Amino acid sequence: MAKQSPPMVVRPYQLMCIVCRLGAKTNDKYYFPERLNAIERLIRKNPDSPLALRCNVDTVFRYQNPGRKYDTPEGRLFNDKRDLAILQRLGMAPGDTRPARDIFKRLIDAINNSKGICGAYEGVRSVTWRGCRLAADGNYARGCTIGRTAVIPARCADEKARAKKNSVREIYRAKILKIRPHHLLCMTCFHGGKTNLAPIQEDNLFEVIDVMQKNPAIRVKLVAGPCIICPPCSAYNPKQNLCFTSGMRDQQKDLDTLQFIGLKYGAVLPARKLLRLIYARIPSTKMVCAYRDGIRRAPEWHICNDPEGSQNYTKGRAAGLGVIKPK
Ligand code: SF4
Ligand code: SF4
Ligand code: SF4
Repeated sequence: MAKQSPPMVVRPYQLMCIVCRLGAKTNDKYYFPERLNAIERLIRKNPDSPLALRCNVDTVFRYQNPGRKYDTPEGRLFNDKRDLAILQRLGMAPGDTRPARDIFKRLIDAINNSKGICGAYEGVRSVTWRGCRLAADGNYARGCTIGRTAVIPARCADEKARAKKNSVREIYRAKILKIRPHHLLCMTCFHGGKTNLAPIQEDNLFEVIDVMQKNPAIRVKLVAGPCIICPPCSAYNPKQNLCFTSGMRDQQKDLDTLQFIGLKYGAVLPARKLLRLIYARIPSTKMVCAYRDGIRRAPEWHICNDPEGSQNYTKGRAAGLGVIKPK
């Protein structure tokens, strides 16, 4: 694995300013352009680079205070309030570190306008709270409409189509199917008890089910990380063999699945035996995809589907995925 650089320290407002610049209609002057350029360059080069969101506070979080070097001229109180307001909307704390991709998604999902955060405060006229001169210009809101893919481009459609074609060919030729554990549950949700399944562009769930239905004895190897289901997915990074989204919760789902079925990565079983084991030990996705108690505790720990368990999984399990006889 390539050596990971230390996180780049970023003031929360600087992320908003990067988006704001994208939406600027005129040559507006942005403060500390070299710093904004450096952050943007790093993100464009590697969107998975870690960013540490640090800001100046008076509280026990002051261990991470970055200093005043990048305060903009509107004053100390304004600078402190703006950064904290952004962190509050992101549901993060001073010093939190995340991959740039995660933070940008969260920023654009959580804040679609600079009004009330960077200035243009309702009913306020005082000099102390005059805020940023660009807060009411709509640059940030415009930047949001193009921001996510302008800074972090989406995976190219042609490249995904090629990945689909090549990976499907490999699946139908494979003697052994390498699958991450929780994707066996996702296959079951995808099946959902239906008899008219069809392939989709975004993943290879259909093809793997099809191979198992035609040959229930085909061997399956349980592997860590992205697997044969992933190559055409928009969230898949083929260069690094990484999933852009949901890294932590997918790993947790894999480990929970392994724990319930009492196996480890590298285990090889015939598909029918593995499915029997999974359906006997995991009657509901609530046990794996909703952390057993169905409680979503943070955005990073999002719950896929119904917190009480996916109905499609129940139906797909009852149908034995069309691979094993339902009990
Ligand atoms: S309004 Fe000002 S502080 Fe806010 S994002 Fe735009 S330039 Fe940055
Ligand atoms: S509920 Fe779980 S098993 Fe079903 S699709 Fe979502 S992540 Fe996959
Ligand atoms: S790349 Fe990620 S989101 Fe896409 S199928 Fe694989 S694990 Fe799921």
